[in-house]
This record gives sequence, structure tokens and C-alpha cells, in this order.
Amino acid sequence: MSFSDDEVDRYARHLVLREIGGPGQQRLKAARVLIVGAGGLGAPAALYLAAAGVGALTLVDADTVALSNLQRQVLYATGDEGRIKVEAAAARLAALNPHVRVTPIAEYLTEANARALIAGHDLVLDGTDDFATRFAVNAASVAEGVTLVSGAIGRWTGQVGVFSVRPCYRCFVPDIPPDAETCAAVGVVGALAGVVGSMMALEAMKLLTDAGQPLTGRLLIYDALAAETRTVRIGADPECPVCGDKMSTKTAFLVVHDYGMGGVWAVIRAENAQDVSGKYPELEIVSERPGWMDDAIYADIERRLGCDIDDPPSPWLASLIEARKID
Ligand SMILES: [Zn+2]
Repeated sequence: MSFSDDEVDRYARHLVLREIGGPGQQRLKAARVLIVGAGGLGAPAALYLAAAGVGALTLVDADTVALSNLQRQVLYATGDEGRIKVEAAAARLAALNPHVRVTPIAEYLTEANARALIAGHDLVLDGTDDFATRFAVNAASVAEGVTLVSGAIGRWTGQVGVFSVRPCYRCFVPDIPPDAETCAAVGVVGALAGVVGSMMALEAMKLLTDAGQPLTGRLLIYDALAAETRTVRIGADPECPVCGDKMSTKTAFLVVHDYGMGGVWAVIRAENAQDVSGKYPELEIVSERPGWMDDAIYADIERRLGCDIDDPPSPWLASLIEARKID
């Protein structure tokens, strides 16, 4: 796949980036990305991915453009009011970058059509604002083995997470929260959609070009009023109805991440791994002893813990975990 002179010019700022360069730009051009929801989050995500030269973008949304959308849905202009969103979006994206193949699908994603819509894509971005749709996107992404970039906003707070089959979105949100809010009811500040939608596009670009550390298995939370972000790890739920397998909590390992050092500092095997993981969201449950941990390291951790490694974590370890929690 070669680039025309126009493309070389257009992507010049990517081509000089060490993490993207020619090979990364080729990967972007070869990529097929599905964006579910052409609203507040889908709009900036679609604009940046089209501008970045993602080869094929599929947009799924049955809504039409309303005047109240324009406060944050930057894909649309005042004259688009009443138009089918994905059709207005396709025209806008084609004008932005004619090298991108945009497929508008004016349907709502449901449990019934989710797998067919997701199949054939390298990545799914979900910017919808209701849990039933998010659950359907997640289940189909897991079934198709496609990585999901999920974003959500409300009022002044936003979050972005990446779910690569396991842990999945359902490990993070097991059931629809009874107090689920919608932006229509509680409001949302417009520029927050730009921040979170752009972060979704950025994570997509990292995943597609294999640059840096994507938010896989982590959730970034942005509190716009406080101007603060924090990132928490999402543990895989062995009982997850979507991605849970026959993994026994008896043989589960807890991986304790040291955020200060950026590495893993201990792995313990615990009968109550699931309980502990629920209490400490930065713990990750894995089904097997990690490859790097040979018998000597295992014995060393056991010695340092001062207890049988098969026992539940000692209070000493629990306090250490507590002290290392990021907040
Ligand atoms: Zn799951």
C-alpha cells in the first residue's frame, strides 16, 4: 500500500512521529473502525480518525440532527438540522478526507444486529449513552474478538476505557445501575465531549499503530470541574456473564501492580481472589501464574509475604495494597 503525494503531505505530522511513521500510517490506512453512536463522543472521534487517515470508518446511528445536539456534536452544522446524522456525518468526513471510505448505517445497534455490524472491523468505538446498547456492543465485541474503546460523559465527568475481550465492559459494569443518568436529563458540558471523544480516537490510534500503552484493562476518569484525572485498573470478573470462563477462584492469581514503579511487584494466589479483587480494583485476576514468575521468584514472594502463598492475603499485604492504592 503506497501513499500518493497528497497523502504524504496530508499525514506529514504523523510520518515524522517515531511511534507512527510510514508503517503506522500504513496500518491506519488498512484499518476498519466501527463507531457506534454519532453523537457527542462519536462526532470528535470520527473527525479525528478520518483526519488521521483511518482507511474505513463505519458509523452506526439512526438519530437525526437536533438543534440541542449542536452544543457539542461538532460534526454537524446548523443547516443539518433534521438530517439523518450518519448521512450528514459521511458528507462532512468525505469533505475532510476523501481518502477515507465512510459507510453510514442509519440503524440503532441492538443485540440482534450487533455481531453482524461489528464483524469485519479491527476496532469498535462505543460512544452511546445507554447501558442496554453498551452491553450489546460489549457482548458482540467479545464474541467477535474485537477490541472495544468505550467512552462515557455526564455533567462534568468523563471516562475512557479499552476492553480487549477480557476484562470486558461487563466485568466493569455487571448490571445496569438503578440510578443511570442520561445527558438529556442531567446535562453535559460541550467541550467535555470533545476531550473524551478525542481520547477515544487517540486510544484507537495507539491500538492500531501499536504505539505506547493503551488503556487496555484500565479506566481513565476525568473530573473536569476539579481538572483532575485518575486511572484505575479493571479486574476480570471470573463470574462475568460475557467473558467469564471456567476459571476457578481457587487457582486464580492476584497481580498487584506497582504504579510507582510501573511494574508488577507481587503475585499471590488466593482462594478469595474474587472478593479481594472487588475490594481493590487495581488488582487483576489472571488464571495462570505469569510466565516471568519462575519457581525461585514464587518462593521469594512467599518468603517476603511471610505466609503460605496459597493462603488469602495477609493483613500486612492488604495494608500494603491499601497504601499503594492510587486515588
Ligand atoms: Zn467480562
